[in-house]
Amino acid sequence: MPDWSEQAPGVYARRYAELDLTVGLVVGSERCLVIDTRGSRGQGEELAAAVREVTHLPPVIVLTHAHFDHAFGAASLKAAFGDCPIWAHTGCRDALAERAESDRREWTDRYRREGEHALADDLAATPIAAPTRTFDRATRLDLGGRTVDLVHPGPGHTDHDVIAVAGNVVFAGDLVEHAPGGSFTEESFGPDTHLAAWPTTLEHVLAHRPRVVVPGHGDPVDAAFVARARADLRTLADLQSGVRAGTLTLSAAVDSAPLPPEACRAALS
Ligand SMILES: [Zn+2]
Repeated sequence: MPDWSEQAPGVYARRYAELDLTVGLVVGSERCLVIDTRGSRGQGEELAAAVREVTHLPPVIVLTHAHFDHAFGAASLKAAFGDCPIWAHTGCRDALAERAESDRREWTDRYRREGEHALADDLAATPIAAPTRTFDRATRLDLGGRTVDLVHPGPGHTDHDVIAVAGNVVFAGDLVEHAPGGSFTEESFGPDTHLAAWPTTLEHVLAHRPRVVVPGHGDPVDAAFVARARADLRTLADLQSGVRAGTLTLSAAVDSAPLPPEACRAALS
């Protein structure tokens, strides 16, 4: 099992082997904030126990976006912690209501194809907890002795990504990913991705002047890493414009793109 790594006093990240997912924890004097919940009933139960190793303060939860690997552990945290508030962007609440079941089916099937039957069974039996508090642009949480800003910096990985700003540590969800040896993977780009807007959204993330950025997958990074990711996304968005305008073929675009071919194809298609 992974351990919490302290990024600043009372500000923790925890990186898992499963999907290389990274979650966060910020501890105030009266409450703690759990950032993302892992992807199933069992995974949520494990995370609840891990939070209790650090603090027994009442928790508040925030979902960075609606994808199952970040949001589906919420019901287990709620069961473990009592009726704690679950914060999310309004669009995250709507996306969970519309797409959680198809997300569940897609990944249950995928886990079964890959022979991961325990993961598939766990995901199939996972209840979905809807966000209980929503916002559209930003909101400030008072944890006692410290505040955390929840901000929607614009569309990118989805249309409802939320970052959590805890002093000079920013939890960025899947707006930033840190794959081994690189940044984005083919999983970073889906039908709900807004590639053209994503670079500007990362500028808004960098405007918070983070010392550490905790990605949705992988180890924490610095602002320079995020600036390089923004440049790569800008290049991809320009290539996508060329493909859509018919001035560039998809294979030529993939050949000149700054990410591995599978990731480029996912981004450009
Ligand atoms: Zn995601």
